[in-house]
Amino acid sequence: MKSGGNPMAAKRDYYEILGVQKGASDDEIKKAYRKLSKKYHPDINKEADADQKFKEVSEAYEILSDAQKRAAYDQYGHAGTDPNFGGGGFGGFSGAGGFGGFEDIFESFFGGGGGRRMDPNAPRQGEDLQYTINLSFEEAIFGVEKNIQYNREETCHTCSGNGAKPGTSPTTCHKCHGSGTVNVERQTPLGRVMSRQTCDVCHGTGKEIKEPCPTCHGNGHEKKTHSVKVNVPAGVENGQQMRLAGQGEAGINGGPYGDLYVVFYVAESNLFDRDGGEIYYELPLNFVQAALGDEVNVPTVHGDVKLKIPAGTQTGTKFRLRGKGAPRLRGGGNGDQQVTVKVITPRNLNEEQKEALRLFAKTSGQSTVEEQSEGFFDKVKDAFGGHKKK
Ligand SMILES: [Zn+2]
Ligand SMILES: [Zn+2]
Repeated sequence: MKSGGNPMAAKRDYYEILGVQKGASDDEIKKAYRKLSKKYHPDINKEADADQKFKEVSEAYEILSDAQKRAAYDQYGHAGTDPNFGGGGFGGFSGAGGFGGFEDIFESFFGGGGGRRMDPNAPRQGEDLQYTINLSFEEAIFGVEKNIQYNREETCHTCSGNGAKPGTSPTTCHKCHGSGTVNVERQTPLGRVMSRQTCDVCHGTGKEIKEPCPTCHGNGHEKKTHSVKVNVPAGVENGQQMRLAGQGEAGINGGPYGDLYVVFYVAESNLFDRDGGEIYYELPLNFVQAALGDEVNVPTVHGDVKLKIPAGTQTGTKFRLRGKGAPRLRGGGNGDQQVTVKVITPRNLNEEQKEALRLFAKTSGQSTVEEQSEGFFDKVKDAFGGHKKK
């Protein structure tokens, strides 16, 4: 095992610290920890760096002995053990569903690098971008084609991204020989320490550009307005997103473009509520229609549909219009439209109408002398099966 003595170095691999294989069993990890924690315990080991090594070993064991933390570390490296990682923060992506997927996002955020110092000359993927598309209620249900426009960093067209004036090319940095870092020796109270710092000549790129490109001034990118045609699939929901590969920003050192995440914002409808493939509609009926039955036109997003209302329909009764909902995104045709009846009690009756209702009440054996009393309309409602006041 290398002995570093380099406090500035990137975090070491936890398996390496414990001296076990990546696939080591829990038992092997525990044994290795016991051995090393004894060896480096500050009460036993009086070497200068024992304390730091003991901390390293404890940290490695803390992560690798916990199945959940170990899995996160295996997948995402040191970034995966950061307390700020995961568990929220990505709320906006919750609707990812059949489109992108979390792994793609994490890979692009953390570069899969696992906390190791990266080669400055290695090709790296460009940044991901996000764009919100506003959709009407109907556009989300039936799908639509949208042209969107946004600014992004593109590969410079003058120098093809290498940053050098045409006819010249970048050279390897004379100071760091292309590594992007230089070792610096410092005097500390504990003695001389070697530390690695970003190269001050090339600022970590490993390259020197003697004559920069006049368009991009050497960074290899230029800001441009970019347009993309987005085919919004039928059935998307508010907050869902779609990944368009390669529509993000230009990569570095010839790496691929990043991705564009399109997020859908769906407007509400005055008539309908929607949950996935299901659409909900409240159908107002007057109490005569509800009592005697009727045939009514019910609006749906697919056009009006005739619905037979049986005599004696109660408020709250539900009807299902098969296939009149929105498309289910994961296949399986359309959902249904659920129709919930709401019986409306009449207001502002004229004298003739009131007389008819009094007659009705009498023939139902519910006539009373106090027909003008406050209880009157409650009784009418009861006669029609309506709900009492809560
Ligand atoms: Zn350029
Ligand atoms: Zn350099």
